[in-house]
Amino acid sequence: MSAATAEQTPTAEKTRLYGVCDYYDAESLLTEDERRVLGRLREFLDREAQPLLAEYWERGEFPQQLAQPLVDLDLMEPAELSGPRADGSPARGIYQGFRIFELARTDASLATWYTAQAGLFRTAIRVGASADQQTEWMPKVIDFSLKGVFSLTEPDSGSDIAGGLSTTARREGDTLVLDGAKRWIGGAATADVLAVFARDVTDGQVKAFLVDREADGVTLEKIHGKTALRMMQNAHITLDGVRVHESMRLHNVNSFRDVAAMLRAMRSDVAWIATGIQAGAFEAALRYVTERRQFGRPLGSFQLVQEKLARMLGNVTSSLSLVVRLTEQQAKGIYRDQDSALAKMQTSLLMRETVALAREVAGGNGITLESDVARFHADAEAVYSYEGTHEINALIVGRALTGESAFTR
Ligand SMILES: Cc1cc2nc3c(=O)[nH]c(=O)nc-3n(C[C@H](O)[C@H](O)[C@H](O)COP(=O)(O)OP(=O)(O)OC[C@H]3O[C@@H](n4cnc5c(N)ncnc54)[C@H](O)[C@@H]3O)c2cc1C
Repeated sequence: MSAATAEQTPTAEKTRLYGVCDYYDAESLLTEDERRVLGRLREFLDREAQPLLAEYWERGEFPQQLAQPLVDLDLMEPAELSGPRADGSPARGIYQGFRIFELARTDASLATWYTAQAGLFRTAIRVGASADQQTEWMPKVIDFSLKGVFSLTEPDSGSDIAGGLSTTARREGDTLVLDGAKRWIGGAATADVLAVFARDVTDGQVKAFLVDREADGVTLEKIHGKTALRMMQNAHITLDGVRVHESMRLHNVNSFRDVAAMLRAMRSDVAWIATGIQAGAFEAALRYVTERRQFGRPLGSFQLVQEKLARMLGNVTSSLSLVVRLTEQQAKGIYRDQDSALAKMQTSLLMRETVALAREVAGGNGITLESDVARFHADAEAVYSYEGTHEINALIVGRALTGESAFTR
């Protein structure tokens, strides 16, 4: 079925992938082929991933046995969606959005793990690499044979990274020498390369480099004791006189403006994650209140519980409508900082309320890993803060509205 036809046809009730959590049938924007790929992902997540989640979350480890099978599902540029287009652009944005939604609806760490490669690293290469570099690297990014992570945040600079970035790059002939530290870098321990952002001491501009994870001078330490996204591994990275050849510099990154172009795309992905988390939490809560009985009746029969269900559904539906519309705008080539910042800010705000309500209607069981709502509730806090905190995204929107920058640096 063509995309144009799919857009006009409601999805037949029997064949819908998303039931009540897609209240206004955004799924009808997908083609049959796209829905088939997502159905394959759904089957894998239900059968292979779901049974492992609580245990690995508690252990604070990523279930590595899921990594290769997830790659083998061929989700990034699925063959049946005819691969990357002639202009090098990826599969349709709406498919990519629903792929993130599907992963996050099952687990936020799985969605973050997949998006580290398919979103962050791929975007770094798509925006930052020269045409020749892309020809060499992009196929390997797509089939995961070159695994990479996005290393921007530093121990002393998170929100103010644009002005505060202090990792340095010093040129010695054809080699650049990197010194500094990076913090919170997701998936670094299992990556082949780290896309490291550093300030070139010659011109003071931010540049980007692909650094071999095992290069001399690179030290990785796992961040322990996290209370959110426990399955996803984050690293503190030290770079001490790390030597990188000029050929491993991303040739199209010449200032922080180029990094900002990357962040614009990534924030939309996180808005989809925040939406998927809400769907997963809402569905788990709905199941719970249907099964659990108090006062001789199902919890779901009480008016006060139904009000909470309605609020959760309202939040999921608002978020999904927002990310779908954002994705449609981007498909037309409209990319503005404030658009993705608004979506990340608003879906994350709604996510916080949705997961709290889901946890609430599950009572005491809502704080145990036995009920999925507890995992979503905890994990949401990390998603709320990464890829631009609420305040930073609000300031980006505020700047666009008033023409005044309220950032102080
Ligand atoms: C689980 C996880 C995974 C991550 N993965 C990656 C990754 O893969 N790669 C990467 O580069 N980074 C990653 N990050 C880093 C993430 O992007 C930062 O945590 C985020 O940008 C916030 O920075 P910070 O934690 O240093 O907080 P800070 O910047 O210290 O902010 C602390 C608080 O102060 C507020 N604040 C700061 N400035 C202002 C202001 N001007 N006005 C009002 N309020 C302000 C913030 O909104 C926040 O509430 C990850 C973070 C987490 C938690």
